[in-house]
Amino acid sequence: MLRWQWFLVYLLVVASAVFAGADYYKILGVGKDATEKQIKSAYRQLSKKYHPDKNPGNKEAEEKFVQLAEAYEVLNDKEKRGIYDRYGEEGLKQGAGGGGPGGGAGFGNDPFDLFSRFFGGGGHFRGARRGPNMEARISVTLEQLYEGTELEFTVPVQTICETCGGSGSADGETHRCGSCGGQGMKVVRRQLAPGMFQTVKMPCDVCGGRGQVIAHACKVCGGAKIVKEMRTHTIPIEPGTPRGTRVVFENEADESPEWEAGDLYVEVEELQESSKGRHGYRRRGADLFRREVLSAKEALYGGWRRDVVFVDGKTNVTLSRKSGESVQAGEREVIRNKGMPRFREAGKHGDLVIEYVVIMPGKGRAKKGHDEL
Ligand SMILES: [Zn+2]
Ligand SMILES: [Zn+2]
Repeated sequence: MLRWQWFLVYLLVVASAVFAGADYYKILGVGKDATEKQIKSAYRQLSKKYHPDKNPGNKEAEEKFVQLAEAYEVLNDKEKRGIYDRYGEEGLKQGAGGGGPGGGAGFGNDPFDLFSRFFGGGGHFRGARRGPNMEARISVTLEQLYEGTELEFTVPVQTICETCGGSGSADGETHRCGSCGGQGMKVVRRQLAPGMFQTVKMPCDVCGGRGQVIAHACKVCGGAKIVKEMRTHTIPIEPGTPRGTRVVFENEADESPEWEAGDLYVEVEELQESSKGRHGYRRRGADLFRREVLSAKEALYGGWRRDVVFVDGKTNVTLSRKSGESVQAGEREVIRNKGMPRFREAGKHGDLVIEYVVIMPGKGRAKKGHDEL
């Protein structure tokens, strides 16, 4: 064989070695030591992002969506994960008795089916009935709003029962309702007055109008198809986030097999004035305000210097007057660009306004300026 042909063979061998094993950890973006919870959370986030309904015509996203389901099916299963960790994808294929359709290593699960176990709505974003949205609030200190941070919070949420996959049935089977014959409706005769009857069609009370009943209810959800759980989210707080900002967590509201989960809206609240993490500052828009108290002597003759802690809690703001420089009660000093970061305007800041309060001798009270902040 010619040299370049050998090279080609070599290339093919290398290529098949690379593609033989999909890295499920990498696909889900988690470490090899990831917990069950981390794997679930990663699947939740990524499957929403790459869902074909949200990326119409995007082949790459579609492929990624399928890979995510595959990766989840393996890593969420203790036994499969163990085999995968030891022997890779090849080991799973052999264990499953040969490859399944589409080279999916024989798992054979519909990625949309898996998706619907998490988010309801039949696995799709289109055409499905949408469940109600949810609202939550998170309180943030001024210091955190200045610096920007990430916060974890937990909300109680209704989720599709994992044990029965939302069927409510222990054996996964449903049966035709004997009471209504699977119609979901019953004809009832009502007596309106002696000798007078009315026939009305009503939803079947046995199957609740579904026409199907479950012989053995799922032990975990008791046939309800849903369970309550506490779900943890991470919310990014950008520097200078205005109070009342709402952050959307798509499809993170209550789940049900009957609908596509609605959105969770989280409102960012600023903690009250007396709370910690303010360091004596108040905020209006991007500007910060702070009072500074001077003795009558300082106000009159000057010659003082102070380092006051800044709203970030780390640095200081230096205030001073030279000897002979007086300060009026209620005087305002504006320090340009020393206020809050302007929201989503990198590098830009509001102003810091210092309002001077002068203690008058003998009166024991501070005299404030006339214009209240
Ligand atoms: Zn019925
Ligand atoms: Zn269940």
